Amino acid sequence: MSVLAAAGAGRLYAVRAVFTCLWRGKYFSSGNEPAENNPVTPMLRHLTYKIKSTGPITVAEYMKEVLTNPAKGYYVNRDMLGEKGDFITSPEISQIFGELLGIWFISEWIATGKNAAFQLVELGPGRGTLLGDILRVFSQLASVLKNCDISIHLVEVSQKLSEIQALTLTEEKVLLERNAGSPVYMKGVTKSGIPISWYRDLQDVPKEYSFYLAHEFFDVLPVHKFQKTPHGWREVLIDIDPQVSDKLRFVLAPCATPAEAFIQCDETRDHVEVCPDAGVIIQELSQRISVTGGAALIADYGHDGTKTDTFRGFCGHRLHDVLIAPGTADLTADVDFSYLRRMSQGKVASLGPIKQQTFLRNMGIDVRLKVLLDKSDEPSLRQQLLQGYDMLMNPTKMGERFNFFALIPHQRLHGRNHQMNACQSKPSPSPVAGFGELTWR
Ligand code: SAH
Repeated sequence: MSVLAAAGAGRLYAVRAVFTCLWRGKYFSSGNEPAENNPVTPMLRHLTYKIKSTGPITVAEYMKEVLTNPAKGYYVNRDMLGEKGDFITSPEISQIFGELLGIWFISEWIATGKNAAFQLVELGPGRGTLLGDILRVFSQLASVLKNCDISIHLVEVSQKLSEIQALTLTEEKVLLERNAGSPVYMKGVTKSGIPISWYRDLQDVPKEYSFYLAHEFFDVLPVHKFQKTPHGWREVLIDIDPQVSDKLRFVLAPCATPAEAFIQCDETRDHVEVCPDAGVIIQELSQRISVTGGAALIADYGHDGTKTDTFRGFCGHRLHDVLIAPGTADLTADVDFSYLRRMSQGKVASLGPIKQQTFLRNMGIDVRLKVLLDKSDEPSLRQQLLQGYDMLMNPTKMGERFNFFALIPHQRLHGRNHQMNACQSKPSPSPVAGFGELTWR
């Protein structure tokens, strides 16, 4: 990891978020908080028509419509991140976060033989802040990456956010692609001269040697919710409340529904959330990595198959009843990492989940903080750096609720160092940066 200290430029880039903002990993919501008002949003109208014509809908269908409906979806037409939005994420808090992830990708690229080319693929890039910090590290370490042919591929459903990403990452105006047959809907060149393309679906990204990144992406994918009853598992559905006009409510399906097939036979919880879309994406990533190599780094709040009711909403940095004013608030559910691991179906090896605090410490956050503090003499910037560090690392803030999880080819764990360690009595440290203690070379 000595490369990190060498990424010396101790410069502070844009001043980041104010720390009164809310991060989404924080609270649980039963969805039953009293709501002062229940405005009839266009999305509520759309959903009530739908329910009236075809009956109650699953929570997954509700989440999908509310978040990504191409006309009215919450993610499609707004910038919800940051101080003026609904929630804040780690890359928006501190530049160090993205810098360390940039180091992780370079470290994996080096460890796997410095391929002549790689694609960096990000799922749900938000404002492009994280990628901007990663690309700055790539520029600072241009001598290490020299002759490597890098391209950037963003998977994003939001028109508004893709425009913001283009502004963050490129210098010139990025034009919409006119070729109707192409899955690429925008194309450009980053500030450092790397080609960048936008897609709506991971399936459309070329199947080349790639590093994949998903930060706070899996938690917005639709979940099905189930409850165990004396008659077996029953799915939680969303219906119109017959007592109150324009109000939605949760009901239980009267009989088994098809999504029940996603529940494990040996499931011991009595309430579960399952996210089949996450399973499909993990299967696709695993298949790609097993064939072409590369790795996937997934960071999110979540659990290892232990939590029950985590579906919740956020609006204006406050917890929000998921059924009130749909389309105006973010909806999310904790990621079940045990499900992601299972969905990789043994095609690749998985690492983690490990706590954000541990991962960032293993990646050298303390060293990086010191470099930046040493180089900045402005008290407000120093304070911002320290506050950002505390927010990311403090176990009572984001340090413990957020996790890192990686998919890597099986061969990656059977390298020379690993075999040597297997002969020793000490447990062998992970050969993959971040997932084992930091060692200085
Ligand atoms: N990674 C960013 C943003 C997280 S918010 C950060 O950490 O700051 C979730 C992101 O995923 C947004 O960019 C949203 O538009 C995008 N998104 C949501 N559902 C999606 C889907 N089904 N496919 C692709 N992108 C999606």
